[in-house]
Amino acid sequence: MNVEKFDRVYIGTGPISVADACHFASDDRNVLLVDDKARAGGAWVAIPIGEYGELEIGCHIWSYNKAVYDFLERFFELDLIELKPQPYFLRGNVKLGYDQKHAVTTLKSFGKRLSKGQVKSAFNYIRKDPSARIPIIPKKYLYPRGGARDIQQSIERKIETHRLITRLNSAVKSLRKIKENWELTFDNGDQLLTKEVVMTATSAIEGIEVDGQITNIEHTPIQYAHYHVVVKGKPKKPCSYVRVLNHDYIHRVSEITYQLEQNNKEDLTVYIVGVFDHKLPSNKSEIEIANDLLTYLTDRGFTTQENTLLYQQKNRFETTYISGHQRALVNAMPGLELMATTDLIYGFYYQLEKWFKA
Ligand SMILES: Cc1cc2nc3c(=O)[nH]c(=O)nc-3n(C[C@H](O)[C@H](O)[C@H](O)COP(=O)(O)OP(=O)(O)OC[C@H]3O[C@@H](n4cnc5c(N)ncnc54)[C@H](O)[C@@H]3O)c2cc1C
Repeated sequence: MNVEKFDRVYIGTGPISVADACHFASDDRNVLLVDDKARAGGAWVAIPIGEYGELEIGCHIWSYNKAVYDFLERFFELDLIELKPQPYFLRGNVKLGYDQKHAVTTLKSFGKRLSKGQVKSAFNYIRKDPSARIPIIPKKYLYPRGGARDIQQSIERKIETHRLITRLNSAVKSLRKIKENWELTFDNGDQLLTKEVVMTATSAIEGIEVDGQITNIEHTPIQYAHYHVVVKGKPKKPCSYVRVLNHDYIHRVSEITYQLEQNNKEDLTVYIVGVFDHKLPSNKSEIEIANDLLTYLTDRGFTTQENTLLYQQKNRFETTYISGHQRALVNAMPGLELMATTDLIYGFYYQLEKWFKA
């Protein structure tokens, strides 16, 4: 039986994998992108929400980095707009802007390193870590005009124009090093060979075998749970991305009405509310919880009491993160790269350094 052979295989079809594949692929280098989902895009996908069209599943914030914003605008041909209002943290009724929070976190991390005598590490953190910022003038956080759906559509266009081969609905289970190649085994038993493999920090690979030695990859499972809440009536207060800090089970709120495909003739408002699934009251139905969420939105002044619940949908996005110490182990294996991409913008920041310094 003939086994398919590639120069490089990407496990996952998130934006960074696809952009990296576009940079790497050429007429004499064949590339395959694999994903266990039915559509390319990774976490940046849109899903059907009742009769209201396709709406982003839960992503809704891009960390600030000008170089990355410029790159994404150019490369994915995105129209980036300022989040209005700018994202903020909410503890009770007290607000703290994202940039203010950044300054506090940066100073804390810097001080902590210094207090441990790690002077070099403290200055390296300030110089090199994209999250280390003490903004004097608050920066504008941007996001694509149509939300994650814009990114997903752009990813699909890039795959088409670069003629990248994809294999969707297929999970890679294990990797085995055979001489200069990696053998990939899929969930249905299929196998293929590739010189190089690029995984993301969320690639759920069970085992990697080199010279008969199997490394079982430890993953931390993460379940993102979001409710899409459709409300009859107009919003009272704009809300782009709010991190909720002191609630029993709500951790974020975004208003995404603008992502509705049809004209909003019916005066609808759509919210994504992020919840901690394991903390949801077990004695309540999904509709009761959605009504609780609406009460929260009303109490915080985002919507009004006259607005009623029209539709609710709870969505889960299950993912796993490869544990920190195993990342170094995986990256030391020849022909295997693990990209750290848990924050999209910072993930791109490191890739830009790689692409443009190379
Ligand atoms: C619901 C949700 C909301 C988020 N919100 C934000 C946000 O607002 N801002 C932000 O910066 N980040 C957000 N993130 C984090 C997001 O994961 C990163 O921004 C970025 O998309 C990570 O890129 P990635 O390619 O590593 O993983 P992903 O985008 O998660 O893509 C990995 C893909 O690979 C597939 N896959 C995994 N293992 C295998 C396998 N063995 N075989 C085949 N396919 C596999 C997965 O199903 C997935 O489709 C969010 C994540 C989720 C899940």
